[in-house]
Amino acid sequence: MEDELRDAIRKLCERYPEEYWQSLDRERAYPVEFVGALNDAGYLACMIPEEFGGPGLGIREAATILEEINRSGGNGAACHAQMYTMGTLLRHGSEEQKRRWLPDIASGETRLQAFAVTEPDAGSDTTKISTFAEKRGDRYVVSGKKTFISRVQHSELMVLLARTTRLEDVERKTHGLSVFLVDLREAGDRIRVSPLDTMINHETNEVFFDELEIPEDNLIGEEGKGFHHILSGMNAERILLASESVGDALYFVDRSTKYAGERVIFGRPIGQNQGVQFPIARAYIHAQAAAALRDRAVELYEAEEPCGAEANMCKLLASEAAWEAANAAMDTFGGYGLAEEYGIERKFREARLYLIAPIANNLILSYVGQHVLGMPRSF
Ligand SMILES: Cc1cc2nc3c(=O)[nH]c(=O)nc-3n(C[C@H](O)[C@H](O)[C@H](O)COP(=O)(O)OP(=O)(O)OC[C@H]3O[C@@H](n4cnc5c(N)ncnc54)[C@H](O)[C@@H]3O)c2cc1C
Repeated sequence: MEDELRDAIRKLCERYPEEYWQSLDRERAYPVEFVGALNDAGYLACMIPEEFGGPGLGIREAATILEEINRSGGNGAACHAQMYTMGTLLRHGSEEQKRRWLPDIASGETRLQAFAVTEPDAGSDTTKISTFAEKRGDRYVVSGKKTFISRVQHSELMVLLARTTRLEDVERKTHGLSVFLVDLREAGDRIRVSPLDTMINHETNEVFFDELEIPEDNLIGEEGKGFHHILSGMNAERILLASESVGDALYFVDRSTKYAGERVIFGRPIGQNQGVQFPIARAYIHAQAAAALRDRAVELYEAEEPCGAEANMCKLLASEAAWEAANAAMDTFGGYGLAEEYGIERKFREARLYLIAPIANNLILSYVGQHVLGMPRSF
């Protein structure tokens, strides 16, 4: 089953070769055709249960899909949110909410690609967010500002984390946050979206909320418990982004191995030199280790057991393996690593993101130091 899925994704990705991603990168354009093809084939809805019109696959298959997209040279970031936001919706949404939204997402009519957490004044310290949803009758009225919110312009729905009780009024800083599903089609001028230019081609934005009204039915789970509800989504996000990084690492290893075997300098293939071979081999080993830990995180996630440690650790390992492989590829390709037409420099820029997003690796180290190893809290 897994091999068949990998083959099918590889075949689909072959229709979108390096030139496709390069021209998008140059134009800073969204991969509409590629995402459309994934949607039509049902891959984006893979985690939606059959009773709601989806294929009823799990995070394991989602991880395989994203890994293969990135290994093929593509970029799963254009569409991964529809998979990782499912964790929050499936585990904490009501039956009525699932019936209302999931069939349209499964059919591809509605896209759920935006996940709005980060704020300029809170950054990694999520509990400091100040976007506020005030209850007024049967609605919540939201005001505030988010930053780096990706794919908003290619999504009808957005999962939003906002405060419903101010930080100064809660007993614990993780209390008083709530999760909403926002229908962007109904937002009118109450939401303003301002695109952010970044080093990579990643549709990301500042988003301003000005008294946006959300029906109370769009609250997911319990009011005030949003931080906990969103954690299952965040664990899924870490596992899936680790899979993209594993895919990136293997992309660089594949490309470097091939090039090192073909490029002849000093009368022999450069790959014959252990100085060229070893960094590629080392990155490959680290990518395999990351994939093994990712598989463990997947098992725990599927069993609905705590998987925060494994999800975080595999994200750190995978992002570092990808970055190591990216540097090995740059060295292997020499000057051609920097030449646009080879594609290495594009993937090099893209692989760099996951050392800092969706959670900076320092924060993972601090999580493991405090929560896994029991060392003193630093914040
Ligand atoms: C292209 C892109 C797309 C994104 N898409 C989304 C999205 O769709 N939705 C969303 O909500 N967010 C998104 N983000 C935001 C991303 O999740 C944040 O950038 C990330 O969480 C880090 O937050 P920050 O940039 O504010 O860094 P900061 O929190 O300001 O941290 C800056 C640096 O300081 C370090 N640091 C901070 N505190 C500590 C500490 N206590 N100990 C050690 N080191 C520390 C961090 O490791 C980091 O390296 C995106 C970001 C990018 C760049």
